[in-house]
Amino acid sequence: MSYNNSFWEQGSFLDPYDLIIVGAGIVGLSSALFYKRAHPAARVMVLERGFLPKGASTRNAGFACVGSIGEHQADIKKESEDIVKERIVRRYRGLERLKEVLGEEAIGYRHCGGYEFFTSEEAFKEVSSEVGRFNKWMEELIGEEQVYSLDRKEGYPVICNRLEGALHPGKMMQYLAQKVAATGIDIKWNTEVEQTTEDGTVHVAGGPTLKAKQILHAANGFVARLVPSLTVSPARGLVFVTNEQKELPWKGIFHHDRGYIYFRNVGQRLLIGGARNVDKKQEETDQFGANSKIKNHLVDFVDEELRLQEGWTIQHQWSGIMGFTTTKSPIVEQVDQYRYVAAGLSGMGIAIGMDVAEQAVEML
Ligand SMILES: Cc1cc2nc3c(=O)[nH]c(=O)nc-3n(C[C@H](O)[C@H](O)[C@H](O)COP(=O)(O)OP(=O)(O)OC[C@H]3O[C@@H](n4cnc5c(N)ncnc54)[C@H](O)[C@@H]3O)c2cc1C
Repeated sequence: MSYNNSFWEQGSFLDPYDLIIVGAGIVGLSSALFYKRAHPAARVMVLERGFLPKGASTRNAGFACVGSIGEHQADIKKESEDIVKERIVRRYRGLERLKEVLGEEAIGYRHCGGYEFFTSEEAFKEVSSEVGRFNKWMEELIGEEQVYSLDRKEGYPVICNRLEGALHPGKMMQYLAQKVAATGIDIKWNTEVEQTTEDGTVHVAGGPTLKAKQILHAANGFVARLVPSLTVSPARGLVFVTNEQKELPWKGIFHHDRGYIYFRNVGQRLLIGGARNVDKKQEETDQFGANSKIKNHLVDFVDEELRLQEGWTIQHQWSGIMGFTTTKSPIVEQVDQYRYVAAGLSGMGIAIGMDVAEQAVEML
């Protein structure tokens, strides 16, 4: 006889859920937490395909940032000023919420300041001419004065952002998962959702079929596999961490080239990542792995611009998968009667993750 669920299982474990969330990244877990706070009696489950979150939330660079002027300028070229302003507010609000919900200590937060780093005086001149305008924006938008200022680091011109900091994504997600589990929400790790359907059914790979009144797809870079109508494209990002350096002048978080390259210190180690734009088409993938062209580009950047002492080595290297929308604004919407989406964090999910989750819970 084939394997059937028992009468008892049908009336307990497999009872319909009020909410099933697909994906235990920052958006999925924060949505679960906020939903349960609003509906304490609700039956909620989070399904995650990995033994750990297996997308971006534990695999990023840990920048708690509202964005560099160069990045905002590049976005203004593609979108309106109003949208960029709204995004700045969202990033700021999301980070404040993250620190408030989890606590700075639990997420390893360090208020180290952010720096937009220039290797060309010409590019610096162009971007820094906007400092006055952006300081005015920040004052208007979030009530913070003199956010940006000019400085030099190791001979290079930089624009400082005094609001930014660094955190430990592993600790952040581990604590968030503990907090979610403590509310009584079931997080099922190693549980891949194969398909969700219009009638509120969730098909687990090799497992049972579940029913939910609402299904929230928080699978970011992988979401289009489940909801193909969505325009969220996967984008792979590469990160590496060096061995400990006797001297490391790069303390704080640094953005370069409109945010495409980013680096920071982790104690006496350098973390560097990005440069997706060096081989953009190739990186539109949801497969983990390293692109040697990009890796070489980053290694050259460390040698030629950051000038670590000779003999430095890469001690950790990994990739993560982001989800980009066409505009960089996330998609938080209802797909049909039972199915919803909160995805497309467009490389800013540490900053906007909790804000997106709050929006998602409001929608639900
Ligand atoms: C290299 C890199 C560096 C980054 N640096 C920063 C940074 O410094 N600051 C910042 O703000 N942002 C950064 N980001 C972006 C940030 O990490 C993401 O925007 C954020 O983590 C997205 O969160 P999420 O919950 O939407 O998605 P994810 O964290 O990707 O979570 C989605 C989850 O869904 C799961 N899943 C997918 N399909 C299924 C399925 N079928 N069944 C079950 N589970 C499924 C995945 O395994 C995954 O765990 C970076 C990203 C990368 C990759």
